[in-house]
Amino acid sequence: MKAITKTKLICTIGPASNSETTIRKMIENGMNVARLNFSHGTHESHRETIRLVRKIAKEMGVKIGFLQDLCGPKIRLGKLPEEGVRLIVGDYVALASSDEKCENALPVDYPKLHDEVQVGERILLADGMMELRVTGIDGVKVICEVITGGVVYTKKGVNMPQSDLHVPAFSEKDREDLKMGLEEKLDFVALSFVRSAKDLEEIKSIIDNSEHKPLLIAKIEKPQAVTNLEEILDVVNGVMVARGDLGVEMPLEEIPHVQKHIIAQAKKAGRITITATQMLASMVKAQRPTRGETTDVANAVIDGTDALMLSDETANGDYPDVAVATLARIARAAEQHNKHTPDFDSSLFRNTHSFTLAIGRAACWLAKDVGAKAIVSYSATGLAPYCISRFRPECELLVLTFEERVCSMMSLIWGAQAVYSEVMTDMDSVVETAKIKAIESGLVEQGDTIIVTAGMPFGKTGTTSLLRLVQI
Ligand code: PGA
Ligand code: MN
Repeated sequence: MKAITKTKLICTIGPASNSETTIRKMIENGMNVARLNFSHGTHESHRETIRLVRKIAKEMGVKIGFLQDLCGPKIRLGKLPEEGVRLIVGDYVALASSDEKCENALPVDYPKLHDEVQVGERILLADGMMELRVTGIDGVKVICEVITGGVVYTKKGVNMPQSDLHVPAFSEKDREDLKMGLEEKLDFVALSFVRSAKDLEEIKSIIDNSEHKPLLIAKIEKPQAVTNLEEILDVVNGVMVARGDLGVEMPLEEIPHVQKHIIAQAKKAGRITITATQMLASMVKAQRPTRGETTDVANAVIDGTDALMLSDETANGDYPDVAVATLARIARAAEQHNKHTPDFDSSLFRNTHSFTLAIGRAACWLAKDVGAKAIVSYSATGLAPYCISRFRPECELLVLTFEERVCSMMSLIWGAQAVYSEVMTDMDSVVETAKIKAIESGLVEQGDTIIVTAGMPFGKTGTTSLLRLVQI
């Protein structure tokens, strides 16, 4: 099956999509990665989703990756009545830690709330839809005036952009969730509300010491993370432009510019970027997106994002599979109108003399020179195709690998498509297999030129050093 887009499409699985028929349709429509949001669900429910998606993907013969999204220090409201609580402008409302049994206060799942907020600070609820201002502290209760009203529901997010909170960057729950993700061998793990490289130390050391190593993504959704972007990029494989919380923590009008900045810096550092949240928000309730959303999705592709992500659209929306099809159509059109000119002078080379990176660049250069239809990369760890993808080849990128794990990792690598192959020990077998698999995948035809990359010694990591030009 030839991929619909080079840009990778991530879909959050939730009540609206957690069924065999819908997941199947979403995959047909272009989904590459299933996102599991650990702010919701139990380990058992996530394991069921993983089993279901893996079963369907196997039946369909496609590779679907998994993105485990860890809550990090996200603060949420506790349990509220089913119908929600209406907040009226000018009224006063109390917040209290959900550990304290307080009558008439909205429960918040942060025990030190009353100690750490100050009078005058803003508190935003439900992605900033509602705004409160702290007017006083009364014991464990935080008294607030309602500045922007609305209805709040159970577990909605609480943001305190002005407060200096001492929440741990990586909680006990995150540790347990990560453990489960490692057991299930999930491909990518994202941590929410990262502020600095230090916030990533613990999760990184757990991953480094684990046999299964998911790629690490930092969600950029705090102004501090934008300030510390360089040091964060140094320690992760990718970043998410998490516009939902970013748009609450920073003035909304800054978001388009911060998005461009994050994507540009990440590209320079050779890191993966995911652009997320409200990409097609109106499609939660409608079958067609707004013109503004259409343009926003296209612009993210033009900015150079590696991946686009749907949240509510597929988790809770009325038309999850239509949303994916729409995302794919917009992304494909944007790709066709904006061929990325590979950046061969890339500052990727600033701090590294990696053979693999150099071969990646050379393969893309060569592909352009000879009009090759595909680059075929035989890879044991995924590093070679990752490097090739950084230079945005115009031609197809096919990955041959004997590691299942590399196959599914490619689900987030821009432009890469993976097929399983046997272990090979000489260049001639690699070339023969490359020809067969490239034709079988429908990427090339007889007479086309392909470029094959591999490493010596064969099957060993980090050794990519060979490039071969082949006419089929
Ligand atoms: P969330 O993260 O959906 O977990 O909040 C994404 C965002 O904030 O944009
Ligand atoms: Mn968020």
